[in-house]
Amino acid sequence: MRVLITGAAGFLGSHLCDRFLAEGHEVIGMDNFLTGTPDNLAHLVGSPRFRFVSHNVTDFIYVEGPLDGVLHFASPASPVDYLEMPIQTLKVGSLGTHKTLGLAKAKRARYMLASTSEVYGDPEVHPQPETYWGHVNPIGPRGVYDEAKRFAEAMTMAYHRTHGVDVRIVRIFNTYGPRMRPSDGRVVSNFLVQALRGEPLTVYGDGSQTRSFCYVDDEIEGIYRLFQSGEIGPVNIGNPDELTVLELAQKVLSVTGSRSPIEHRPLPTDDPRVRRPDISLARRVLGWEPKIALDEGLRRTLPYFQALVEKQDSAVARTL
Ligand code: UDP
Repeated sequence: MRVLITGAAGFLGSHLCDRFLAEGHEVIGMDNFLTGTPDNLAHLVGSPRFRFVSHNVTDFIYVEGPLDGVLHFASPASPVDYLEMPIQTLKVGSLGTHKTLGLAKAKRARYMLASTSEVYGDPEVHPQPETYWGHVNPIGPRGVYDEAKRFAEAMTMAYHRTHGVDVRIVRIFNTYGPRMRPSDGRVVSNFLVQALRGEPLTVYGDGSQTRSFCYVDDEIEGIYRLFQSGEIGPVNIGNPDELTVLELAQKVLSVTGSRSPIEHRPLPTDDPRVRRPDISLARRVLGWEPKIALDEGLRRTLPYFQALVEKQDSAVARTL
């Protein structure tokens, strides 16, 4: 297959490029480095089946030659990022989805939308099955991401129903692992970096809100299986092992051996109280479930953040 992956320089996008290349496919990676980084693709330079195109996917996308797949993974994905870049977030979810769907239609390619657990908002049904319609505040600061992704799902289904585009929708829950930006503001990256630096772990609110964290290799396996399957979706791909943010902080302290204190900060507006995927559908139709427990995933992630923190600290030391 020859596939286009948008957001290729991002956390999930770059891992997805690796997976398609490992399966023997040809990959065109596209990104504008709004939140992605060339470092995530550095290991692919010179790889014969990989080509990178620098482009903003909210503008018309031109790709020469045939395409078998278009996977739309471009978007700011951390609450801190989409609060800082609300209009870009809305544009990549709306205009970017429209452009990538148009490309998939023109090339008769299979299309995959990277959607999110955020479509469920602050959920009143727990855990969240795909049949739940969600509880989103459209005018809150978080709405820019949630509504963009909800619109993107609607647009994807419209292209499927109207133009017969072969589509897949994956709802991705909190994922962590190597290649997350150390400063992207998400809880796992924040806590690991803070613990490694001996700085306080910033727990927002009282830390009783829950999340369920999936290691990146498990997430990519689920996404790849959905792409290859005959299932349109949406399908939840995430780890149903739920814990509070405070419990996560304690786990990070024990995995890193850090003696950082815990400090409470204000809870962001509309921060979901609970989140946990119901993955019955993924189990049934994809035969997929996550394999890597949180402790193991954190241990696998640690060396990546250790290397980054050491690099940053030695750069600071050189300037002193
Ligand atoms: N959070 C926190 N401290 C941080 C960053 C995040 O307590 O330094 C909390 C945040 O308020 C939320 C949870 O951790 O309840 C997960 O946040 P994240 O930004 O990783 O993703 P979200 O699931 O909210 O999209």
